[in-house]
Amino acid sequence: MRLRSGKRHTVDARPEAPAATPGPAVELRDVRRRYGRGGGAVHALAGIDLALPRGTFTAVMGPSGSGKSTFLQCAAGLDRPTSGSVRLGGTEITGLDENQLTELRRSRLGFVFQAFNLLPSLTVEQNVLLPLRLAGQRQDHHRAAAVLARVGLADKARRRPAELSGGQQQRVAVARALVTSPDVIFADEPTGALDTGTAAEVLGLLRQAVDTLGATVVMVTHDPTAAAWADRVLFLADGTFVGGLEHGTAEQIAARMTALSGRTGVLAGAAA
Ligand code: ADP
Ligand code: MG
Repeated sequence: MRLRSGKRHTVDARPEAPAATPGPAVELRDVRRRYGRGGGAVHALAGIDLALPRGTFTAVMGPSGSGKSTFLQCAAGLDRPTSGSVRLGGTEITGLDENQLTELRRSRLGFVFQAFNLLPSLTVEQNVLLPLRLAGQRQDHHRAAAVLARVGLADKARRRPAELSGGQQQRVAVARALVTSPDVIFADEPTGALDTGTAAEVLGLLRQAVDTLGATVVMVTHDPTAAAWADRVLFLADGTFVGGLEHGTAEQIAARMTALSGRTGVLAGAAA
């Protein structure tokens, strides 16, 4: 594996995160999410406790149906837990109304999805500036240029997404996620649609956001090679975290996943 040998985990050199509030970037306390009621109810999250320090990169893995997507949606304020507490950058979000949640997501969170989710009619620069536009903030062209340079796309500002490769489009999505200097970047299978080489580029950008900008990244993935870029991998099974691995190699992470799916039997016959 050709991963970041030596340049990671220099915790002392890590800059302070920009957010003013103290405490973890992401904190979940006894978070539960139930779908349906009575005998047919599904306990997608069955009591999640978690505190992620600022400036860390966490990967969440688990068999299909273990609750990864539900976890990410609840942690990012896209879905409401049935019970429990979710704090982002010190703000308790479970009591916020839809407008407040939308505002918080726009100003303090970044998102990277498997399908890139760029707007095809907008230029690369306009896509990157979209979070600022939606938040009613000034269209800061210098800022757009700076984040595009950071992801290696300084010369693509006036292109449209369809003119770029998949890897380049995902780098635009990373630039868009970075443009507001968010407290937390949530990534849901960000390399799921990419080949190995371009996946490594995108993962390197997320790693760099953590190491040089003090960003906090939470990434759901089924790929042990992608998860190996994180500081820590958390393993979900049946809606609870059943273990973690610090600084694991792709091989170690894969072995834990195999043990996990054997234990729960969930992977048998199910797509990831
Ligand atoms: P993963 O992302 O790890 O595959 P999910 O979070 O998507 O897992 O799903 C966790 C569990 O919750 C699964 O049993 C799934 O079938 C169930 N589930 C997810 N979304 C819904 C929904 N909207 N309605 C009912 N059940 C759901
Ligand atoms: Mg899922």
